[in-house]
Amino acid sequence: MIPKGKVSLPYRSYHFLWNALDWVFPPACCGCGKLGDRWCHSCLNQVIRLEDVPICPICGAPTPNASLCHECRNNPPDFTALRSWGIYHGSLRQAIQQLKYERNIGLGETFAPLLLSLLGSLEWEFDLMIPVPLSKQRFQERGYNQSKYMAIPLHLALDIPISDRALVRTQHTTSQVGLTGQERRENVCHAFTAHSEEVEEKNILVIDDVTTTGATMRACSTALMEAGARKVYGITLARAGLAAHPESLLG
Ligand SMILES: [Zn+2]
Ligand SMILES: [Zn+2]
Repeated sequence: MIPKGKVSLPYRSYHFLWNALDWVFPPACCGCGKLGDRWCHSCLNQVIRLEDVPICPICGAPTPNASLCHECRNNPPDFTALRSWGIYHGSLRQAIQQLKYERNIGLGETFAPLLLSLLGSLEWEFDLMIPVPLSKQRFQERGYNQSKYMAIPLHLALDIPISDRALVRTQHTTSQVGLTGQERRENVCHAFTAHSEEVEEKNILVIDDVTTTGATMRACSTALMEAGARKVYGITLARAGLAAHPESLLG
């Protein structure tokens, strides 16, 4: 899926543009605050990657011996697979919070090589990319959709169409923070509507910043499949809601 050793010109130009902006307005590292990089190597290298953790083959949640998790066994989602790059902890948590709440949108471009390397390790074929939409109200409050800033460089690198109209968040849901798994599912289960003319017969990659219980990705995939999508995959930068000591998941 990922063209090896070849980086598209639009992607290189986008990268160049952000680097030029960094040159004019030097960024501070989202982890340690050191000037020069949006996310310095030392902070980035501290992230625990999920490729080193045994996970459920469908939803990507850590499981013993990479077995199917309880949730996927009893109530399989409509998506084919969901994967995340790293554990929502330390500087990855700080990076996402800055992208999401502090308008540090250049981080969307910083995340692209990480997501591209994750996609490169998977055998997914997709022909449309959709960033998880915000509700109208949330979009007005925030002024931008952080997932879109993660999706744009992927769209440029892979030359696969992106749509922010195909899936709509029709219901304004309360924040998911602090809710239990069951409450999160109820909170978002009918929150999305997809447009058949855009998604019919397509294999779709949905892009989001964080997965906690997978409730949002489940709701997106249900709406997309109901509108006639063939398959739905999900990718997020981070997986939250795991052990307080994520190091314990390794091995
Ligand atoms: Zn740093
Ligand atoms: Zn699972």
